[in-house]
Amino acid sequence: MTTTTITPARHRQLGDHTWQDDAVCQRTEYNPVDPDLFFPEPDETDKIAAAKVLCGQCPVRRTCLDAALEGGDTHGIRGGMTEEEREPLHEKLAHRLDYSRVNDTIAGRDIHLTQAERRAVIYAAFRHGVTEQRLAWLLKVTEEHAQKKYRELRRAQRNRGLEQNTETSSLMANGDLGRDDFGTAA
Ligand code: SF4
Repeated sequence: MTTTTITPARHRQLGDHTWQDDAVCQRTEYNPVDPDLFFPEPDETDKIAAAKVLCGQCPVRRTCLDAALEGGDTHGIRGGMTEEEREPLHEKLAHRLDYSRVNDTIAGRDIHLTQAERRAVIYAAFRHGVTEQRLAWLLKVTEEHAQKKYRELRRAQRNRGLEQNTETSSLMANGDLGRDDFGTAA
């Protein structure tokens, strides 16, 4: 039987570049990689193939790709993808909603979030009773901003409650709820 191990995503902290120390393309005395390899012209297929082979062996490939997308780095080969291959990913980044990032942030890690992920953090923090002060720290915003976000959520929750009450009342008024004679013959 084959066992597959999936390594959980480990997102880099904002401003952390230490992952580059493990990059296969890091040029050193013992690893004389030609940096030009990673900036090929679209028709330089041999160069592209050679760079992709190196990326395929790179332990920080995922982090490299994330860093390129989050930093808007559209030049060269990153994370095993050419500029042209990455283009649609750059366009879609704003819509990313990765719950492993949301969880990492709630746990106190300072990582890159999209707007959708920030909203998810606020919602998760609210539901789990995280204080406004802690939310402010997690998102690096002011306490006033965190208070405002919680106020908006409380208001939305109240409005939802009112809507549900109205629906329940109208069902009861129509006799669709509150009956105790289900199953009896008329
Ligand atoms: S994935 Fe490729 S471009 Fe990125 S660090 Fe590794 S070798 Fe370099």
